[in-house]
Amino acid sequence: MTLRAQFFSHIANTSPFPLGLEISKAEGVFLFDNTGKKYMDFVSGIGVNNLGHGHPAILKAIHNQADDYLHTMVYGEHIQSPQVLLAKKLTDHLPISLNKVFFLSSGAEAIDCAIKTARKSTGRKKIYSFKNSYHGSTYGAMGLIADPLKTKPYDPGIGEVFHFDFNNPNIIQHIDHDTAAVIMEVIQAEAGIYLVEPGFVQAIAEKCTQTGCLLIFDEIQSAMGRAGNLFAFEQIFTTPDILVLGKSLGGGLPLSAVISSEKITHAIANDPPLTHMSTFGGHPLCCAAGLASFNILSSGNVIRDSKSKSMAFVEKIRHHPKIKEIRATSGLWLAVELVDADMVQKLIPIAQEKGILIDWFLFNDRSLRIAPPLIISHAEILLAADMLLESLEQLNKTD
Ligand code: PLP
Repeated sequence: MTLRAQFFSHIANTSPFPLGLEISKAEGVFLFDNTGKKYMDFVSGIGVNNLGHGHPAILKAIHNQADDYLHTMVYGEHIQSPQVLLAKKLTDHLPISLNKVFFLSSGAEAIDCAIKTARKSTGRKKIYSFKNSYHGSTYGAMGLIADPLKTKPYDPGIGEVFHFDFNNPNIIQHIDHDTAAVIMEVIQAEAGIYLVEPGFVQAIAEKCTQTGCLLIFDEIQSAMGRAGNLFAFEQIFTTPDILVLGKSLGGGLPLSAVISSEKITHAIANDPPLTHMSTFGGHPLCCAAGLASFNILSSGNVIRDSKSKSMAFVEKIRHHPKIKEIRATSGLWLAVELVDADMVQKLIPIAQEKGILIDWFLFNDRSLRIAPPLIISHAEILLAADMLLESLEQLNKTD
């Protein structure tokens, strides 16, 4: 039986249409399939591989840590240097109120922890989230999704979750002394890259301060340089009460974090204690990889240089008649909206054939996700733009 046949026989699917690309190797911005065909990776594992595949400093940190120790005790008990050093490094780069880190493994798990923390520390139940936001697929994170088609099979969910329109100030009048938290993405990722308006988020933050409601930023996809800064919230001049990180935080290994103040995180550990735990949270191997990755992102020019690459890419493709709109962040993270979803579905396999992997967004099938590793070179990004243009041209011919 081929590996492909075994995949379809034994791997439980998440959808009836898996990509099914058989990967044999990954290096830099490239993935290689089992025939040796090379693909430029413009998805980065959905925002994970910000430093590309097989970065030598990350691999070295993983090897060194594996030589010292792997798992020793459930999270939060032993003192393990990779965890402590990464927490220190992260908090050194954050506002003073964000000085306590709770490490977990996945983004959704961290979102669950954040909303539990908000409910426990405020003693309130109501959670406000936004339409077209995606925060993950665990029971709590999924409970924040607005689309009833997705959530209905899992009713009754976590209760008392209310959804509002992103960037619509209508939410502000509803934040009151019974609201535990407002949770939002600074850049709505799976909606297809929509940036929050600074005035909107500042008004929310003000009302949260007045009412004692907590503001949670989900930066699972937008942080670690993806949107042009270490943390996207640096661009909107508003500090959340709770910051949630994941995806590229672990440098390619599973790692997430809930970062807040001593006052707020106190609720997790007390009255009663041990109400949020995780065996593998902050695994030393993941923290070692995360630390190596963070050291590079926070000290070198990778993030700064990603901006001009993004601009060069946009400049090259923006006049193509099949492109309706390009929504750009300040980093190497774009949504290229085509005329319709059908065109996106036809273009993706054509682009793959040409050697570039592109994806759509969970809640926006009219747009292409452009999120290559930030370490892509100028020459490579221009080559990718040519490949996309050629794919669009080929689409013209098959129309
Ligand atoms: N939050 C955002 C903004 C995301 O984009 C995702 C995943 O795509 C998640 C949360 C969930 O993260 P995970 O898949 O690691 O649970």
